[in-house]
Amino acid sequence: MSKRIVVLGAGESGAGAAVLAKKEGFDVFVSDLSGIKPKYKELLDAHAICWEEGHHTESDILNADEVIKSPGIPDKAPIIQKLKAQETPIISEIEFAGRYTDAKMICITGSNGKTTTTLLTHHLLTEAGVDAGLAGNVGNSLALQVAENPHPVYVIELSSFQLDNMYNFKADIAILLNITPDHLDRYNYEMQNYVNAKFRIIQNQTEKDAFIFWNDDPIIAREIKKHNPKATLYPFAETHEEGTKGYVENNQIIVESENGTFTMEQDLLALTGKHNLYNSLAATIAAKIMDIHDDKIRASLKNFAGVEHRLEKVARVRGVDYINDSKATNVNSCWYALQSMKTPVVLILGGTDKGNDYTEIEALVKEKVRALIFLGVDNRKLHTFFDGKINQIEDAGSMEEAVNKAYRLAQKGDTVLLSPCCASFDLFTCYEDRGDQFKACVRNL
Ligand code: ADP
Repeated sequence: MSKRIVVLGAGESGAGAAVLAKKEGFDVFVSDLSGIKPKYKELLDAHAICWEEGHHTESDILNADEVIKSPGIPDKAPIIQKLKAQETPIISEIEFAGRYTDAKMICITGSNGKTTTTLLTHHLLTEAGVDAGLAGNVGNSLALQVAENPHPVYVIELSSFQLDNMYNFKADIAILLNITPDHLDRYNYEMQNYVNAKFRIIQNQTEKDAFIFWNDDPIIAREIKKHNPKATLYPFAETHEEGTKGYVENNQIIVESENGTFTMEQDLLALTGKHNLYNSLAATIAAKIMDIHDDKIRASLKNFAGVEHRLEKVARVRGVDYINDSKATNVNSCWYALQSMKTPVVLILGGTDKGNDYTEIEALVKEKVRALIFLGVDNRKLHTFFDGKINQIEDAGSMEEAVNKAYRLAQKGDTVLLSPCCASFDLFTCYEDRGDQFKACVRNL
């Protein structure tokens, strides 16, 4: 009898994993506690895979030989607790897909900058003609590609939730961008658990592999020895320190690798802001390790279109620039956005609080912000922190109101920045919805 694989959660990763499992000859069952999107139902039906939605039928799940769990399902979910109690192996879609491909894996994690760095790395490779698949958190299932459209190289965005259920998978090139507190509710409010999840990106690496990381991150610096990296190390930092392989000197980006030294004027980078300098350094190191030609890397770093909702330029209206950074859902990412601003700023922030501490952006707000607009259902915490520190503060209960107030308060030469520090769920369906509404309102001005 063939081995029984149960897939819990039928989103992009779960549906993809089910298709690959079926192709590999397993007895496959898919169960999703909420509704399954029509496109995934079609995919499962097209492959004659049994599925259920709206509930978990325990008798069909607890008899699994192995479970593939969607990263969205927390360990404390009752069905996971039961599977753990009976010691059923639980793995992630990436772990499963990794068993059925010999492709080179370039994997990217960090608290902030994953999507940007993943897309940029993919851009550097594909523009140079490499047949690279894009997978992971960024929205495409690795398993589905392995099953139906295999590539020799994959660039994979990995969240800590995906890494949690990875055991034997190996990243040929691992990138760890930074570690700041996030998602602690899923880690028993223990920062160390979250840090350990991030470092799983280097598990199983050997000296033939590469580990690229931000050398100035205090948590990475403190933890790296403990996690005993076996791979060749490629630390990057803003300034050259002993051993750094990526840095800036005399306004030139420099990346040192076995495949020669890459240089480029920093001002030519398409992505702006210090955080994007780090992301660009990380992606360039990966491209050099992949032996991409310097001219190609330079051209691609210059022409990268950027990523929607991340410091995305929307329009200039009457001499004022409008920037959509809706993906800045924590205080740290807003810090980087403000840090990159070269003009006075009207900052729109607020939403669903995630235990925010605004002390981190206080100095930058005082230095750069002309006016604050609090956009949210409950702005009390923002008022408590910022009242008296900034002269002009207004509340807004909708995006239209926020943009109209920003339009009124901004002066010629200013920037209106949506960089909310908060989740979007009080007024919007998701951060994309919030960013889209911002762009629509700006275009209506
Ligand atoms: P992730 O996929 O990790 O959420 P994104 O690339 O989507 O990261 O960027 C999310 C936000 O984080 C952006 O709006 C930006 O302001 C900020 N950000 C991007 N890169 C970095 C970085 N290297 N360090 C800190 N903040 C960053």
